Amino acid sequence: MLEVRDLQVAYGPAPALWGVSFELRPRELLCIVGPNGAGKTTLINTLAGILRARGGRITFEGRDITALPAHRFCQAGIAIVPEGRRLFAGMSVIENLEVGSLLPAAKAKRAASLEAVLALFPALKAKLGQAAGELSGGQQQMLAIGRALMACPSLLLLDEPSLGLSPLVVQEVFAAIRRVNAEGTAVLLVEQNVAMAMRVADRAYVLEQGRMAAEGAPGELMQREEIRRAYLGA
Ligand code: ATP
Repeated sequence: MLEVRDLQVAYGPAPALWGVSFELRPRELLCIVGPNGAGKTTLINTLAGILRARGGRITFEGRDITALPAHRFCQAGIAIVPEGRRLFAGMSVIENLEVGSLLPAAKAKRAASLEAVLALFPALKAKLGQAAGELSGGQQQMLAIGRALMACPSLLLLDEPSLGLSPLVVQEVFAAIRRVNAEGTAVLLVEQNVAMAMRVADRAYVLEQGRMAAEGAPGELMQREEIRRAYLGA
C-alpha cells in the first residue's frame, strides 16, 4: 500500500534520514520504534508531505507521491495526527473536527464521519461546544485522532500518541487505534513507548540514527537480546 525506497531527508546540511526503505501492507497496523532523535518525526512528517524528501521515492497505492504538495497527500488519502497534537486550542471541539473534513470528498461524508468519531470516542460527545484547549490531555489526543479521521483517510499516520498521557489513557487511545485499523484503515504509528506499540502492531521496524536497523513481527523483535536491552531496559 505504501512503499518507501531509499528515502533521504535533511535539515539544511544535516541529514536526518540516510536512505530509509520499508513497506506498509494493505490494512496493516505498522509501528516504527526508535530512540529520541532517531528520525521518527522526520519520517512521518515526510510521509504526510510536510517535509520534502531530498532523495528516494514514496509510492502510495501504486502512485509516486514523493513530490506532491502537502495538501495533495491529504487528497491522496493520508492523514496525520502530529506530535503534540496541534489542535486549534481556542476553537471548539466540533470546529476542530470540521477542520479535518474541509476537502470536498470528506465534506460530503461529514455527518457520517462525525457519528463514527463520536462512537469511537464517546467522551467527546458532551464536549462538542467546549474549547479544545480546555480538554484533558487524553481527550485532546482523542480529538486529534478524530480530526484526522474526519478526512476519511485510507492511511492514518500517528506521531507518539502516548506522549504525556497516563498509562490508563494510553490503553484507551491504543484500543481506539486498533479499532480504527480493524475497521479498514491502515495505520503507521511511530512511538517511543515500545512496549505498548509492540503490543498493538502487526509488524514493526526499528529506526536508529536515520536508518532502519531491524524489521519483524513484534513478538520476534522483542525476543532479540539487543532490542530488549535498548528499549525495555531488560
Ligand atoms: P523524538 O522522539 O525526540 O521526536 P525522533 O525520532 O522523532 O525523535 P526527529 O525529531 O525526526 O527524531 O529528529 C531526527 C534528527 O533530526 C535529530 O538529529 C534532530 O536533532 C534533527 N532535527 C529534527 N528537527 C530538526 C529541525 N527542525 N532542524 C534541524 N534538525 C532537526
